[in-house]
Amino acid sequence: MTDISTSVRERDRLDIGSAEGGGCSSASTMQEAARKAGKSEILDQYAADYPVGPHDQPQSMCPAFGSLRVGLRMRRTATVLSGSACCVYGLTFTSHFYGARRTVGYVPFSSETLVTGKLFEDIKEAVENLADPEKYDTIIVTNLCVPTASGVPLRLLADQINGVRVIGIDVPGFGIPTHAEAKDVLAGAMLKYAREEVAAGPVAAPREKSDKPTIALLGEMFPADPVGIGMMLEPLGLAAGPVVPTREWRELYSALDCAAVGAIHPFYTASVREFEAAGRAIVGSAPVGAEGTAAWLDAIGAACGVKQAHIDASKNAFVGAIRGALAANPIKGRITVSGYEGSELLVARLLIESGADVPYVGSACPKTRWSDPDREWLEAKGVRVNFRASLEEDIAAISEFGPDLAIGTTPVVQHAKQRAIPSLYFTNLISARPLMGVAGAGSLAQVINGALANKGRMDTMAAFFDGVGTDHATGVWEDTPQDRPNFKAKYAAINEAARKAAEAVGT
Ligand code: SF4
Repeated sequence: MTDISTSVRERDRLDIGSAEGGGCSSASTMQEAARKAGKSEILDQYAADYPVGPHDQPQSMCPAFGSLRVGLRMRRTATVLSGSACCVYGLTFTSHFYGARRTVGYVPFSSETLVTGKLFEDIKEAVENLADPEKYDTIIVTNLCVPTASGVPLRLLADQINGVRVIGIDVPGFGIPTHAEAKDVLAGAMLKYAREEVAAGPVAAPREKSDKPTIALLGEMFPADPVGIGMMLEPLGLAAGPVVPTREWRELYSALDCAAVGAIHPFYTASVREFEAAGRAIVGSAPVGAEGTAAWLDAIGAACGVKQAHIDASKNAFVGAIRGALAANPIKGRITVSGYEGSELLVARLLIESGADVPYVGSACPKTRWSDPDREWLEAKGVRVNFRASLEEDIAAISEFGPDLAIGTTPVVQHAKQRAIPSLYFTNLISARPLMGVAGAGSLAQVINGALANKGRMDTMAAFFDGVGTDHATGVWEDTPQDRPNFKAKYAAINEAARKAAEAVGT
């Protein structure tokens, strides 16, 4: 009988000993090549904006997916990728899996077009052919790893063609640690462009304009959350502004026109830089739970010079109601939280205010000054907050704390399920519901308590599958298969050599 409670998940990738960081792995070689090819300035900016310490680069999907998704969600926006065909295949597959329903443009390359500079000419031609103002406001061109490492100079593209804006960004896996931060790369680039347009003269008016000063909201969130936030801001004489990343170009102007910015997700460093350049104050954290909401309303009120009486009016109206919702929907149990969305600390706050014991929060995103209020609140409650958490650290936390429920990324959830621990995938099951205000207080408890109640089912499954082996020996055998690590190492080495050869050719 195999004791699955002690089995540790193996990495998906073959370990051949010499590769750094897995499949998209020649990070230092690519970095070096990119610097030699003239990309030092942007790589230094990324290193400052998205620091990788104290832990190694986390293991999540190709970062370019984050910026691709932001572009694909914008109206009248065309997206063009320049990169290896395998990367583009994976990115388009994932975007359509998540319902993009939009064409992704692709400019292919060969070793010849890459080294002769013809690739840039091909990109330029593709952009010129696409630039139809009847169809598009904006074209976004993204250099993936190989074109970035080769120095394809997207900055030399025209700023606009036929009135269609052109934005070129480099989103290499060796410079942007997570797909979350790649969203910021594009959001920041668009805000910069829009800010310069505003400085140059009149711009398009928003479709809807509040007669009150607004709070722009930084970070993707459940659609009901900005509505709830707007209700809480009303007694302060404020309104909820656009959510950045926006769904339409002209919303960028409204966002920049805000009274202050709520950095709901704290990793949008480049976007914050643009808001600060526009003279806007930034407020960290979010209105989650009773204490979180009270503190956030105070901070927003202070940033906008709102009278205390008005702030108190909102607190009186909403904080008590949130407390009531939390009390009516208690969560009992020990829960570990990990993810790569950037909202992990907010979720942990809400869980704790609902009554849960949360010993560990891991986020693949970095620590920033905008995450300080949540980190301080959590640490004061004895929570270990781990920024730039690696998969191994998140998994180790499950072994260390033995939670009743693990919230995490897919491999974390898989590990927990192997140990018969109920678990929830952060992205699909936690991010896809309201977190703010009264709505958030009730909705999170529903899914968490449902999962906690599954413990008996998990035990039954674990007992049913007990003894069927693990890894290479999984199944019911007359002769249990023997592991052949030497074969794996040999084929991994051949595979890696083939990958490097293909990368050199650039196909
Ligand atoms: S673009 Fe870079 S990080 Fe993304 S899949 Fe390709 S090699 Fe990997």
